[in-house]
Amino acid sequence: LPEPDAVAQEAADVHALLPRPVAESDKYRRGVLGVAAGSDLFTGAAVLAVGGALRAGAGMVRYAGTSAPVTQVRAHWPEAVVTLLDAPSIEHVGRVQAWVLGPGLGTGDWAHELAAAVLASDVPVLVDADGLTLVARDRDLLRRDAPVLLTPHAGELSRLMGVGRDAIEAARLEHARDAAGELGVTVLLKGSTTVVADGAGPARVNTTGTSWLAAGGTGDVLSGVAGALLAQGLGCFDAASCAAYLHGLAGRLAAAGAPLAAADVAEAVPAAIRAVAGRR
Ligand code: AMP
Ligand code: MG
Repeated sequence: LPEPDAVAQEAADVHALLPRPVAESDKYRRGVLGVAAGSDLFTGAAVLAVGGALRAGAGMVRYAGTSAPVTQVRAHWPEAVVTLLDAPSIEHVGRVQAWVLGPGLGTGDWAHELAAAVLASDVPVLVDADGLTLVARDRDLLRRDAPVLLTPHAGELSRLMGVGRDAIEAARLEHARDAAGELGVTVLLKGSTTVVADGAGPARVNTTGTSWLAAGGTGDVLSGVAGALLAQGLGCFDAASCAAYLHGLAGRLAAAGAPLAAADVAEAVPAAIRAVAGRR
């Protein structure tokens, strides 16, 4: 149930917000998403984030990373355009309209420099997972004019804000909103229900998910879905709430009362979009 002072997102609201291609659309105008995620150790996060983005309607996904994740992304998603990085820089990545930063990226110097480069851009950036660890260590990374969407679970928000995890779990709405206000960002706080807050106005609570989503990699898919919506021009608050809704519903459709793998959630995102449109 929605927490007090929050409004639940409904299928019709989500449908109304979702971008749809028109006759004049081309792949660039439909939204180009950059993905800076994955590393030689964590290739799967890159594959899952790219998959979530492709299934959520990005016109194009540009993946930038090192050799092992580039190889995996290419193998799984021939649709993605990849850039093999020989330095932690995005200067050779073509123009993008939003970035996903962080899942599986690692937290060493390379990752920090790449995060700084992505956050120095002038487009919206979604920061998740290792990206949140980097930001927790160096908050100056968030000093930028363009919008930022953070997608922590309670543990990640705890580290970011220096607040105990139990305190966050006891008052999720309040802590999401405080973090958003203090950092000047939009916060999507993950868990069995998901809270989206931007510090101003009512927060939104999403309850479409299923406990089967408590599985490795589902958060990486969510990053890709929300990133794709940012690239398509939604603001952080709407992109985050629509992504939470679609990801939760995709989880339900994929699970249907039995276990799911994160890749199944990405696969089910188009069915979730059809469902909010009233078509099954
Ligand atoms: P992460 O914490 O990054 O691995 O992301 C996990 C994803 O699964 C998020 O979208 C969570 O909201 C969702 N999730 C995790 N546990 C549950 C649960 N018990 N019920 C519903 N959704 C969940
Ligand atoms: Mg995660």
